[in-house]
Amino acid sequence: MKISSIIEQQGRSLSFEFFVPKTEKGETSLFEAIRRMESLKPTFVSVTQNATDTGAKNTSRIVRRIKQEISVDPMPHLTCVGQSKEGLRDVLEQYKRLGIENLLILRGDSPHGITKFCPTEGGFLYAKDLVKLAASLETFSIGVAVYPEGHIETRSLEEDMVHCKEKIDAGADFAITQMFFQNRFFYDFMERVQGVGIHIPVIPGIMPVTNIDRIEKLSQLCGATLPGALVEKMEKAEGSSEDVRKAGIEFTVKQCNDLLRNGIRYFHFFTLNQDELVTEIINNLDLDMLQSPATSPVEKH
Ligand code: FAD
Repeated sequence: MKISSIIEQQGRSLSFEFFVPKTEKGETSLFEAIRRMESLKPTFVSVTQNATDTGAKNTSRIVRRIKQEISVDPMPHLTCVGQSKEGLRDVLEQYKRLGIENLLILRGDSPHGITKFCPTEGGFLYAKDLVKLAASLETFSIGVAVYPEGHIETRSLEEDMVHCKEKIDAGADFAITQMFFQNRFFYDFMERVQGVGIHIPVIPGIMPVTNIDRIEKLSQLCGATLPGALVEKMEKAEGSSEDVRKAGIEFTVKQCNDLLRNGIRYFHFFTLNQDELVTEIINNLDLDMLQSPATSPVEKH
């Protein structure tokens, strides 16, 4: 079922993101994790695409397996990396034949070490061009990535919002945010979104806090601000892995409960292929609130 229709009908959504493992062992663990998370009844699970020329092929293989073996809708991420327009059209046609109804369309990042994004010859420079192509097939509910603190390459939040709107106007019907650790960035973003007349559901992307080194690295890569108090708390807990785990879970539960209290009913968890942590976070949320009538974040903020 299309994510846009599910959100419209149910007014809430819980979803999980997984990455494509590099080894057979990793793939076995991934499928074990997805099977365990099935009981949380996710609206969909998404599968990222890595920044290599075979990225789309690997994602497609995992998505096909999920579709065949697990009763949860898979949503592939599709980036512009390593493909010409014709190559991307072929991938879209393959997803259509496979019965995929939802896609997260991205520009993607260049392979490690290359800072400036260079499109493949005959390929696309921006996500919006691929959104337009995907929308022309009239098959998919299309999601795009949005950035509460602005995309890392952007010069200003205003410029970022202009490009965000162009991308949505090209045919997206929902968006998932980059990770953020201070909800005020999300709430301010939703105000800017409303200000420019964007009315699609915006799903907050939640990165569970694990150890501080990993979170610092990830947040630096995408430009998400880490609150000083969180860093301090995690550093204090550093001597004991159990304390680190507890402090991380406590932080993310608090973050999600604040979003719930503010009317947010959509959550997309970046699982890093680890189901235990996300499951524990979800089990600690105020789930009654998640089940209660939704207030669209777009309307609320
Ligand atoms: P775009 O929307 O094309 O934007 C890229 C930059 O170009 C922005 O700075 C934007 O402001 C600017 N821009 C856009 N249009 C114009 C224009 N007309 N003129 C000038 N500037 C313009 N990456 C992966 O490689 N694989 C994944 O699976 C993946 N999954 C992700 C999932 C989520 C939820 C998120 C938030 C990000 C994900 N990413 C993934 C990262 C993403 O690919 C990067 O953030 C990438 O740098 C930008 O992608 P985009 O689709 O937002 O690009």
